[in-house]
Amino acid sequence: MQNFINVILPIPLEKLFTYKVTSEQANFLKPGMRVAVPFGKSKIYTALVHSSHTTAPEVYEAKEIHQILDEGPIVNEIQLLHWQWIADYYMCTVGEVFRSALPSAFLLESETLILKNQKAEVDEGNLKDDEFLIFEALQHQSILKVHEVAAIVDRKNVLPILNRLIEKNVILLKEEIYEQYKPKLVRYVKLGIGYQSEKNLEKLLESLTRAPKQSQIILSLFQLQATSKKPIKVSELEAASSSSRAVIKTLIDKEILEEYHIRRDRVEYDGNVDNADLKSLNEYQEKALSDIQEAFKENKTTLLQGVTSSGKTEVYVKLIEDCIQTGRQALYLLPEIALTTQLIGRLQEYFGEKVSVYHSKYNVQERVEVWNNIVAQKPKAQIVIGARSSLFLPFSNLGLIIVDEEHEGSFKQFDPAPRYHARDAAIVLAKLHKSNTLLGSATPSLETFNNSKTGKYGYTKITRRYGNVLMPEMEIVDIKEQSRKRRMKGHFSERLLEEITETLEVGEQVIIFQNRRGYAPIVECKTCGHSPQCPNCDVSLTYHQYKKQLRCHYCSHHIALQESCQACGSSTLDTKGFGTEQVEQELHELFPEAKVGRMDLDTTRGKHGYERIITSFEQQELDILVGTQMLTKGLDFRNVNLVGIMNADSLLNFPDYRAHERSFQLLTQVAGRAGRTKKRGKVIIQSYNPYHQILKQVSTNDYDEMFKEQLYEREQYKYPPANRIIKITFKHKDYNKLNEASEWFSKGLRNAFGGNVLGPEFPPVARIRNQYLKHVLVKINSEQSVAQVKRNIKRIEKSFNAIAFYRSVRVIYNVDHI
Ligand code: ADP
Ligand code: ZN
Ligand code: ZN
Repeated sequence: MQNFINVILPIPLEKLFTYKVTSEQANFLKPGMRVAVPFGKSKIYTALVHSSHTTAPEVYEAKEIHQILDEGPIVNEIQLLHWQWIADYYMCTVGEVFRSALPSAFLLESETLILKNQKAEVDEGNLKDDEFLIFEALQHQSILKVHEVAAIVDRKNVLPILNRLIEKNVILLKEEIYEQYKPKLVRYVKLGIGYQSEKNLEKLLESLTRAPKQSQIILSLFQLQATSKKPIKVSELEAASSSSRAVIKTLIDKEILEEYHIRRDRVEYDGNVDNADLKSLNEYQEKALSDIQEAFKENKTTLLQGVTSSGKTEVYVKLIEDCIQTGRQALYLLPEIALTTQLIGRLQEYFGEKVSVYHSKYNVQERVEVWNNIVAQKPKAQIVIGARSSLFLPFSNLGLIIVDEEHEGSFKQFDPAPRYHARDAAIVLAKLHKSNTLLGSATPSLETFNNSKTGKYGYTKITRRYGNVLMPEMEIVDIKEQSRKRRMKGHFSERLLEEITETLEVGEQVIIFQNRRGYAPIVECKTCGHSPQCPNCDVSLTYHQYKKQLRCHYCSHHIALQESCQACGSSTLDTKGFGTEQVEQELHELFPEAKVGRMDLDTTRGKHGYERIITSFEQQELDILVGTQMLTKGLDFRNVNLVGIMNADSLLNFPDYRAHERSFQLLTQVAGRAGRTKKRGKVIIQSYNPYHQILKQVSTNDYDEMFKEQLYEREQYKYPPANRIIKITFKHKDYNKLNEASEWFSKGLRNAFGGNVLGPEFPPVARIRNQYLKHVLVKINSEQSVAQVKRNIKRIEKSFNAIAFYRSVRVIYNVDHI
């Protein structure tokens, strides 16, 4: 009897793939273990065992696996169920979920390497042009990868060329597989076997009287061992004996010391404040806690709506404490940007080593370690705090998931598939574990608030800030009026300048919010009206003064700023609009004494960039911090008393059905950074449209009113939460083909769903990286079966793909697009 396994491949295949295994392999393999398998002509993939059986596939001859990569499962059955749900719900394949779920180091790489055939006599005249290019490249570089070859000859499918070169004996192929993860080894030392007894040690020291450095090392080691029960690192010994590695090495060579290695985790908690006492909650927090616990008794997903600085985190901490007391795991999800060392530190103070952190700024090695610790159910991984991808970790016994700042758009993965919403996928994961979910926010998404209004979710709120600090005082400044009266200095109104001056005078800090980075989004010639555009995308280039560059914010294109207009040659270039760089510069001029910092994508690159700016602001090395929406996320600064919003209109006028909800959330969150600890803070909002209802709702902190109005509009126009939506994006470099193809597809959709199909339409930026884009929106009302709608769409896609001319057009589904 032949054994087979079905595996998940990390590529977008609709079905599982079947491989042959021996009966020993079949006995050893379990679902969730990795195997290396051949696929197609020459590829090798890491696949995940899904199931085993004895039925041969009907339409193809199953191949044998190459290798088993794990001793035991690294993915469990709950995960497999969860992945399947994600694939079904978000209209992608399990393979795509698998690919993005695992740290990339777990996905073995198969790289075809191309080498020069040293033995061959090559007749250059016999080579075609493209062949010659590769041959020539191999004279300079001994190894080429397939994608490098593709770049050299500037085409995608290079296998035919490579085949010709193999036939002509010019090249050789080498298939290399390697696993990327290498555990970090730390070097330790102890006394060599011969010297461990006291008597021998004395003798040793006597023999070393002529070598004072060496005996110093032995004595230091002795001392270290006496004071610490832990193994002694080479580096510790080096420091304690203040001697060099070379001397230690001499002792190791003489076998007086013995060196050994221990595998250590890269991510380690090095604090020493284990289990600081939990803070006691105030009456409002207590009430919220008991409401949540009540709702959890009915297994309800629950919303905690607490105003900014109401102390939601302390409530989470209590829930986590309760959860781990029962021996179960807790997951605390946050938007990546809110995952600050401030917060991690706070949790580690309470839970010490039990806290693991997981997010994309950690390198692959670190992520593999967290993963392995959870598989092994180590205590140090009982609490995970992480960004959206931590949903994919191999939890076996989750008791609680907290989704903080649940309204945040960054919980939705945009690209590539799976385009999942981490909050919603978390709720499903919690159900699979029979565990609880708490959603937290000061400004919940309309969906979540609606679910708690209808009773689907539990609900509780905290309306006061901790310590009874008042909510900040809001003032809206009409900058149209101010400009007319010529009262503006740069982009600052008189009122904002007055407030900044006063705040700085009393030694308090200021936050200034402008939702655009760079100096100016548009450079325009005053003579002919020309403005430099990105050659790859349909947008103007943004001027970055610091680097004297024009940059595209959609692709990586950038050029040096020109002195004169490229179209007409006159030197009358002017800028339009303004970004954080310009605000920063104006502040330098207006407040030459003040120290001004900036926080946006350009200043926060690298693992610690963001952290560095936060710390220097916290330490009051900066007086004013200018920034984009990065400023809004849960930062807890103690000395900020003024928040200025440069221009609310760019948020309000954003062309998107969610723009108003988003503006309310963003403005409320930024405002929430003011006056958190001592006295009442102040917020100044500048706008050309001061009577906008959203600004009124923000300034009176009236979430309920905002909700009522927005919900009404969503119902009128059939948007979520009243309806579900699926956005379908078509993408192709050929404008006409894209138009025709998206038209064809939409006709099919209209036949199936009638008037609930919008588009196809070009988005505001209709071309990105030389690909044209068109969107279609399918709205699904509460009477329709969502699953049925998706099946219909897939059916239309099948016929679409049957038309050869359309096949190269990419079709991208975004379910619950936000
Ligand atoms: P939120 O997340 O709701 O914006 P935080 O949890 O950051 O608010 O709390 C705001 C501030 O109040 C923090 O500095 C926090 O340490 C403090 N705080 C909150 N609750 C308590 C408590 N029960 N005891 C002492 N300090 C608290
Ligand atoms: Zn010009
Ligand atoms: Zn571009």
